[in-house]
Amino acid sequence: MDVRDGEGAWDGSPRGGLTGPVLRVSQVLGPITALGPGRRLGVWVQGCPLACAGCMSRHTWDPRGGQDVTVERLVRHWCRGLDDGYAGLTVSGGEPLEQPGPLGALLTAADRVRREAGREDDADLLVYTGWEEAEIAASPEAGAALDRADAVITGRYRAGEPTGLVWRGSANQRLVPRTPLGHRRYAPHLDRRSERPDLQLRVTDEAVHIVGVPRPGELGSLERDLAERGVTFRGNTWRP
Ligand code: SF4
Repeated sequence: MDVRDGEGAWDGSPRGGLTGPVLRVSQVLGPITALGPGRRLGVWVQGCPLACAGCMSRHTWDPRGGQDVTVERLVRHWCRGLDDGYAGLTVSGGEPLEQPGPLGALLTAADRVRREAGREDDADLLVYTGWEEAEIAASPEAGAALDRADAVITGRYRAGEPTGLVWRGSANQRLVPRTPLGHRRYAPHLDRRSERPDLQLRVTDEAVHIVGVPRPGELGSLERDLAERGVTFRGNTWRP
């Protein structure tokens, strides 16, 4: 796992032992700029049973992968992000709703901290989930976990339904504001489309991370462009 906040890397080890709620995490990166508005902290959880065909994050499927990270530690990261003027926190995956207890604990703590920092009106909490809205509505646990989320992006990724909608991978996925801040911030983006999606490359000691939601064929095209410049990928996370 790679945990960065722009001020240097953490090695991902659970310093000080694991006390309090623990989230199984694939990676944490900040700032990210391609999954929600503004500069944000990105937390990718580990473990997803939904197995969408064409998923670019197959490395997050195995619930035994990644690493246990305390919510307390993630929130310390969020605090640093707020100090640095981050516009929000994006939780993606993997499937966040596979870990409803720790997810809820993270969002509750992130909400408390933003209030303490006086940022409750401009630092939003966004969650990506492969669950459909009806599935969320039918699950009290999922509803409780998302209680503090300002917006969610819902629905399985369907490779056969490409879309130009910002921050979404397929046309069925919905951006759903849940709070006054969520409505205010995300209303301009509900139907907004872009010619090309934002993609962000983050290079760490271990890997090149592609942050964002690529269109069909873009990852292959990026791979070919880089190969022409002598850069080859190994261990691509979007290949079976
Ligand atoms: S696209 Fe998302 S929900 Fe679907 S398999 Fe990949 S991580 Fe899971």
